[in-house]
Amino acid sequence: MSAKLTVTFLGTSAAIPTRERGLPGIALKREGEVVLMDCGEGVQRQVLSASIGLGNDMTILITHLHGDHVSGLLGLLQTMSLAQRSKPLNMVGPAKLLKWLEVTSDLLHIGLTFPIRFVEARPGTILRTSSFRFKAARAVHSVEAFAYLVEEPTRPGVFYPDKAKALKIPQGKLWSRLQKGRGISVAGRKIEPSQVMGPPRPGRKIGYSGDTRPSLGLARFFSGCDLLVFDSTFRRDDANKAIERRHSTSVEAAQLAKRAGVRKLALTHFSARYTSTASLVREARRIFPNTLAAADGLSLDVDYPTP
Ligand SMILES: [Zn+2]
Ligand SMILES: [Zn+2]
Repeated sequence: MSAKLTVTFLGTSAAIPTRERGLPGIALKREGEVVLMDCGEGVQRQVLSASIGLGNDMTILITHLHGDHVSGLLGLLQTMSLAQRSKPLNMVGPAKLLKWLEVTSDLLHIGLTFPIRFVEARPGTILRTSSFRFKAARAVHSVEAFAYLVEEPTRPGVFYPDKAKALKIPQGKLWSRLQKGRGISVAGRKIEPSQVMGPPRPGRKIGYSGDTRPSLGLARFFSGCDLLVFDSTFRRDDANKAIERRHSTSVEAAQLAKRAGVRKLALTHFSARYTSTASLVREARRIFPNTLAAADGLSLDVDYPTP
C-alpha cells in the first residue's frame, strides 16, 4: 500500500500579489502530516480553501527572511492558537526567524497554545518525522536563504506471493509480517523478508528552491527529485533582472531540472509583470519537457516512479 502524497500550491507570486496569484506558500500532505513551505501574506486563507487541517502534525519550512515568504506566518499561528491547537509544531528556518517570531508575537500579544520546536536551517539533514526526512542546502539569494528537500523513508521491496506460497507460508499474519520487513519462522524454518520480496525501494522526493540563482550545488542537491519546485521569477528576456535580484529565469530552472535529472518541474514565484505564465512555461519546456506552471490552488499527486 502506498500513501497518497499531494502537493498544493497556495501562492505563486513573487514579492507582490496579483489578481490571480498570492504570495508564496506550498503545502505537502501525506497521511495526516502536513508540510508548509514558506508562508506569505494570505496563505492561511488558501490553506482553508485547500482543506488542509491546521490541527495536523505539521512542519513549516521557511526559506528566507523576505517579507513575501514570512508575512503570513504570524496570522497562521494566531489562528491555530484560537483553534486551541495543542500539538507541538516543527519550524525550520534561518536563526533570525525565531527572533522575529518571539518579538512580534510578544508585541502583538499572541499567546501560542502550542510549543514550537524550532530547528535552525543548515546544510544537511535537519529533521525527521514519521512521514519524512528533511534536508537543507544553501540557496544563492540576496539574503541568507535555504533550499529544502522533503523525502519519504525507503519503502519495503515488492512482495512476491508465488515465492511465499512455494515456501509454504500460510497467507495472513505471517505474510503481513514479512511485508513489513520482519523475519518469521514456519514449522521450525526461519524465513527472511528477502526470500519473498524484492530490494527496498526509495521513497518519493520533493525539492523546493525558494528564491535563488541556479547553482551546481543545487543541481546536485535536487538530483533525482520526483517533483522539483523552482524559482522562475523572470522570463529569458529579463535575465539581467534575474541576475541583479538573485532569482532565476524559467529557462534556468529548466536547465537545472535537466542537469539534476528530476522527473517533473513546477515553475513558481512569478514576477507580477507577467499576467500569464504561458510564455515562461513554453520557454522552459524546450529544455525540460515535463514542466508545468504552478498556479494558486493547483494540487498535484506525486506518484512513485514506474520501475
Ligand atoms: Zn520571494
Ligand atoms: Zn527573496
